[in-house]
Parts: sequence; structure tokens; C-alpha cells
Amino acid sequence: MKIGFLGLGNMGGPMAHNLLKAGHELTVFDLSAAAVANLVEAGASAAPSIAALAGSDVEMIITMLPAAQHVKGVYLGEDGLLAKVAPEVRLIDSSTIDPMSAREVATAAAAKGNRMIDAPVSGGTGGAAAGTLTFMVGGEQADFDAALPVLQAMGKNIVYCGPSGNGQVAKVANNMLLGISMIGAAEAMNLGVSLGMDPKVLAGIINTSSGRCWSTDTYNPYPGVLDNAPASRGYTGGFGTDLMLKDLGLATEAAKQARQPVVLGALAQQLYQTFSGQGNGGLDFSAIIKMYNGAIE
Ligand code: NAD
Repeated sequence: MKIGFLGLGNMGGPMAHNLLKAGHELTVFDLSAAAVANLVEAGASAAPSIAALAGSDVEMIITMLPAAQHVKGVYLGEDGLLAKVAPEVRLIDSSTIDPMSAREVATAAAAKGNRMIDAPVSGGTGGAAAGTLTFMVGGEQADFDAALPVLQAMGKNIVYCGPSGNGQVAKVANNMLLGISMIGAAEAMNLGVSLGMDPKVLAGIINTSSGRCWSTDTYNPYPGVLDNAPASRGYTGGFGTDLMLKDLGLATEAAKQARQPVVLGALAQQLYQTFSGQGNGGLDFSAIIKMYNGAIE
């Protein structure tokens, strides 16, 4: 397929590489010349602007941008995608943004005659490189079906979540729970170790008992428990505190709009905000355990 790809960062870059590997023809655009050059070297064509990409003969355009303001700018701006793109071009936004913004952009696309789905991902940069991302898709079932073969070149689990915006709803709910559960895991691990338990033994008990969760068995925040978790390499790599903070902001904002309480989600947001404000925004989010124990390196 002829695909346009816009936003070639930590996630979009490797995703675009996987589309090329699967045999798709790519036209790319990013504000970073280096990011574009990297894809051109692998066989993609570069578009000189968003408008040029929108006006090229692509059948589908995928965007992978930082936040809602970028997505709105790229789609709705004067020289944006919707101003130039032909109505038969399918649109997929894989950025993580709030569900209301996703619905606003999809509605504007529909008004121009374009089919659009939201398809945020989980799986991190490792999943993007390996082509094993999970895609959570909101939109019409027929548009999900049409996008499926393309998404399969970048991901392993592709899940239809319901109408427009529901991909973002699933993503926001999952990541809020992840942020909360990581704080719970940090609190419990730190308590147990402070009371004299060996961290590995404690994690082993939790992971075969009712406290087990992804934050304890796959991504344990205590150093040395899991060799390949960020906790065992000084909290480098992984999923940054500031990215978690962004997702918790989306969750609390969405909750406000839905008039639903997210008591622990809001508390988690405040904890990560405090931690980020102390200069730790670039550390993996499991480093939140340092809020409990400043001696952890
Ligand atoms: P990133 O900052 O590395 O990449 C974003 C890219 O978009 C950059 O290359 C930037 O130059 C480009 N960009 C920004 N504005 C643009 C514009 N107007 N026109 C063209 N290009 C523009 O971000 P990322 O880590 O790749 O994340 C992208 C999205 O995926 C975010 O919404 C993030 O929340 C989500 N996400 C990230 C991860 C992760 O682990 N990094 C995991 C899941 C989801």
C-alpha cells in the first residue's frame, strides 16, 4: 500500500521502518530532518511539508505525534492534512491523546469525507521496534477491518474497542491503572524490605499470591528483583515518568468531562508530578519508589 507517515519519533520511527519491511511504499514527514533522513535511507520518500504529503498519491496516512495540540495542528491547521487530503485517503492517528480531541478530529475528517480511526498503542519503544505493539482502535468496524493488515505490520494485538475515541478511552484507562499499580507495588516492596524481607523473596511471594500484578511480576520497581527491569539499570530506558504524567493528565481530564471520580488516578498524578518536579521526569516511572526510599539508587 502507499502510506504517508507523519511523526517519526521514538515510536513513529521504528513503526515506519516496520511498514517498509512489510513491503509498503512510504512517504514521510517530520519536523526533524534527521528523523526523515533515517527513513529515507531505509527506502522511504520524503515530503517537503504536511500539505505536500497530504496532496501526494497515498492511500492511507498514519500520524504518531506527541500530544493533542500537535494532532489538532497537523489535521485541522490551515495547511494541515484535512485541508489538502483527497476524501478516499484513510486516516489513522496512533498518538496518545484525550478521547474528546480524538472525536473532534475524526468528526472534522468525516465532514471532509475522510474515514478516520484512533489507534493508540501500548508496548513502548521496544514493542515498536519488534513490531509487537498492541493497537486499541476506535471508529467504524469497517474502517478497523480496512486498517487491520497495515496495523499487523506494526503490532501483534489489534483490538477493536468500539466507536470513535474508544481506542483512546481504553489506553487512558489502562495507563491510569498502571500508574496506580506501580505506586502500590513500590509502597508494598519498600514496606516489606524495610521490615527485613529480602526483595526477591518478597516479590516471589507477591507474584504467587493475591497482590500479583504486571508492576510486581514483570516490571518490579525494587532494584535487583528482575534483571531486565529498569529498576535494575538505574531506572534508565523504559517508560519515562513524564510520559506517565502525561497519560494520568489525560485520564483526570477525561474523568472531569465524564463527571466520574478517579480518586487514586488523581493522587497518582500528584505523586508523579511531585517526583517529576524534583528533576526526575526522565527516569523510568517505576523510579517513583524513590519517593518512599531516598536511599534507592
Ligand atoms: P517523540 O517526541 O519521540 O516523537 C514525536 C515526533 O513527532 C517527533 O519526531 C517530532 O519531531 C514530530 N512532530 C511533532 N510535531 C510535528 C509536526 N507538526 N509535524 C511533523 N512532525 C511533528 O514521541 P514518541 O515517544 O514517538 O510518542 C509519540 C506518541 O506515542 C505520543 O502520543 C506518546 O504518548 C505515545 N506513546 C509513546 C510511548 C513511548 O514509550 N515512547 C508508548 C506508547 C505511546
